[in-house]
Amino acid sequence: WSKETIAVVTGGNRGIGFEISRQLAAHGLTVVLTSRDTNVGLEAAKVLQEGGLNVFFHQLDVLDPLSINEFADWLQKNYGGLDILVNNAAVNFNIGNDNSVEHARMVIETNYFGIKNMIQAMVPLMKPSSAGSRIVSVSSRLGRIHGRRNRVEDANLRQQLGDPDLLSEEVIDQMVSTFLKQVEDGTWESGGWPQTFTDYSVSKLAVNSYTRVMAKIFSERPEGQKIYINCYCPGWVKTAMTGYAGNISAEEGADTGVWLALLPDQAITGKFFAERREVRF
Ligand code: NDP
Repeated sequence: WSKETIAVVTGGNRGIGFEISRQLAAHGLTVVLTSRDTNVGLEAAKVLQEGGLNVFFHQLDVLDPLSINEFADWLQKNYGGLDILVNNAAVNFNIGNDNSVEHARMVIETNYFGIKNMIQAMVPLMKPSSAGSRIVSVSSRLGRIHGRRNRVEDANLRQQLGDPDLLSEEVIDQMVSTFLKQVEDGTWESGGWPQTFTDYSVSKLAVNSYTRVMAKIFSERPEGQKIYINCYCPGWVKTAMTGYAGNISAEEGADTGVWLALLPDQAITGKFFAERREVRF
């Protein structure tokens, strides 16, 4: 890896995103650390720069089309595009299974549509290379179809999500829209959704499923323009999201993401990982 390899990290100002930025830069890459808040992002990038790492900052809110467009223009002008995209930014408001309409919308918007926004904007800027470009999304075990607990109860939906021939972006969009509609009209509790961290689990189930859909679409790209996309669960990590209650550090939580971003094996795409191992999702 060299300074010519450009990695973009969303939500890089703190937690796992900050650690992924640090570790990628420590491998010799150029990292564009992004954050929706300019001041905290600049501060985070400065900490890494002072450690001698090749890290640069740009503002980016994954929900703001203007911010995404400005970022894409800047990235193209200054770096000619990117090689690696790490979709790390997310929110979680659940303590138990409280689903306020506002929180459920924000969680689905940020965690699922935020990733779609970024993939749409960044794919045209991915640099052609024989090694292929990489996309890694930070997801969660809470978003597994096959988890014994906390899974969606609708067997038909589970089958659609689990069968590559039935799965599509429309199936996922329909799932999140049905969920949000039920939250809005107060019927979600009988809708068979995951029992705990409900909106967060649905958002991560959407991310895991979308990873599969995109891997299939990307596999049709010509040689030299391939993109490999995977997602992973970082574990239960001591960050602001868990109120610093996890059982591993952000450094450990970043490990599998960095490993996936730098993975030389091109056969690996459309998969879900934890602790550097593929997990059936
Ligand atoms: P943090 O809350 O510390 O970090 C989340 C980051 O996402 C922050 O930088 C936050 O920015 C950013 N963010 C939120 N909304 C937006 C937005 N609209 N645009 C840009 N950035 C945004 O949590 P973690 O570091 O723990 O989370 C990182 C990833 O790991 C997430 O995807 C999370 O779901 C996942 N994860 C975490 C687990 C854990 O145990 N911690 C377990 C499983 C998965 P700001 O500072 O401005 O709020």
